[in-house]
Amino acid sequence: MIFIDTHTHIYLDEFDSDRSEAVERAKQNGVRYMLLPNIDSTSVDDMLTLSDEFPGNCFPMMGLHPTSVKENYREELALVESWLQKRKFFGIGECGIDLYWDKTFFKEQEYVFRHQIELALAYDMPLIVHIRDSYNEVIRILKDVNKPDLRGIFHCFSGSTEQARQATGLGFSLGLGGVITFKNNRMQETLKHVDLKHLVLETDAPFLAPVPYRGKRNEPSYIPLVAEKVAEIKNIGVEEVAKATTENAIRLFGLQDEVRKQ
Ligand SMILES: [Zn+2]
Repeated sequence: MIFIDTHTHIYLDEFDSDRSEAVERAKQNGVRYMLLPNIDSTSVDDMLTLSDEFPGNCFPMMGLHPTSVKENYREELALVESWLQKRKFFGIGECGIDLYWDKTFFKEQEYVFRHQIELALAYDMPLIVHIRDSYNEVIRILKDVNKPDLRGIFHCFSGSTEQARQATGLGFSLGLGGVITFKNNRMQETLKHVDLKHLVLETDAPFLAPVPYRGKRNEPSYIPLVAEKVAEIKNIGVEEVAKATTENAIRLFGLQDEVRKQ
């Protein structure tokens, strides 16, 4: 089975002592491809270093994370744009709205998110959307923008059946991670009503490790635990989950050429 971790931050300090080993452990577990969402100007160099070290496995994305939207957001956005002109990236993100940590820059967050939606359209790339305590705001913005060509992922999706219907209706896939393995989470119900064609897997490493590693550092090699949970909830085989989610991710990120090279 081949899996894809569509959202991992293993370029962060938490992996300074064993980053290459973490990539090798992932490959051992069938997690052959990893997509790296950027955070802000401070994370670009480490993300690109890792992408260059594992060119067939680690693919960078470019964007500005909502919790990094501060007074200097214009300079940060300009940097995102200049990087997009310099080399190949595979998605726009991580972007979106976060009203959990801090609401001070909500207006600026919306401006920056809308700007990155435009970039995703201009570069024909998927948009990786962070929706912490901001589901309604994100839906309002996407409906307002109203671009049928826009595609992407609702990262760390944990919403209701109705919210899943809304997100997939807007052409977005749902990113499933460790949260779906936690006790009493509502995805155990929601997932029964969502077709496999809308699902991709992710870790958000080093955050949100699945059971039995909950509370510890997360890493891409744990992706099969998420796949097993999806299989259990939908009462199907894990091979079917691996096949569908991997095909969905290859299509979404345009990885066909990368896969063919191997
Ligand atoms: Zn993330």
